[in-house]
Amino acid sequence: MRTTLSDLTESYPGESFTPSLVCPVCAGSSRILHLASNIHPDKPYAFNLRVCSTCSHGWIDPMPTQGLLNHLYARRSRSVIGEWGTSPLTIPEQVCVQREMKRPPARYFELGVGQGHLYQLFVEHGWKCTGVDPGDWAGRFPNVYRDLSDVDPALSADLLVAFDVLEHVSDPVSILRSLRKLAAPKARLYCAMPNRESLRARRDRQQWRMVRPLGHVNYYSKKSITRALKLAGFAVRYVRATDLNELRFPRRRQDIKPALIEMLGLGDQWIVIAERR
Ligand SMILES: [Zn+2]
Repeated sequence: MRTTLSDLTESYPGESFTPSLVCPVCAGSSRILHLASNIHPDKPYAFNLRVCSTCSHGWIDPMPTQGLLNHLYARRSRSVIGEWGTSPLTIPEQVCVQREMKRPPARYFELGVGQGHLYQLFVEHGWKCTGVDPGDWAGRFPNVYRDLSDVDPALSADLLVAFDVLEHVSDPVSILRSLRKLAAPKARLYCAMPNRESLRARRDRQQWRMVRPLGHVNYYSKKSITRALKLAGFAVRYVRATDLNELRFPRRRQDIKPALIEMLGLGDQWIVIAERR
């Protein structure tokens, strides 16, 4: 039997999907670029992948509501949870550690604590840490809440991190606005999200490895992430596209192509550092 949208809601009682024809970032008009097959192994469903004619942002249509997404993450649904990598720190996490860990400990906030490798590191280095993650798996760390609305609005974090978060939420600008409310003046925000202008994205189209609804529902261009951050009150200070799981110098012939993708900034993932305005 064919999967329907209601098969993907897993008894969620509220509104679960909405048609999503205009850009979630800039409200521009859109066209369908190709299909986007979901990641649930037993409930195959093809969404449309739409792109914005103004800012090149990409997203799936229909869009799951944030309520449904929270419900699915809390249940560890196969609709949203894929395999976790084994590498202790991802490249964006390494960039954050290299740039921030050497300064005196301050207030750290992380959205999407996940397995908590980075969070734990900041805790161990004496930072005052607060985090949010919708799943049970982050509950073993101190000060990690289920929802952004549970966090003390007077937090005033000096460093905020949201790696691999903005592709998972239905309304990224509203999430960024919530982060801004938790940020101290001049606080830095580190984030990472899929680059829909990458070499692989252009080549592989609907087979691109980042096309993973309902895990990934938003896909970013340089313009759309810059725009989303600006709308939320952040100024972009650094942006680069990366592709590798670990930084290394090419030694073998088969390593040259990945190194080139990296150098040319054509990688699958944006790393962005922004500052609260
Ligand atoms: Zn747009």
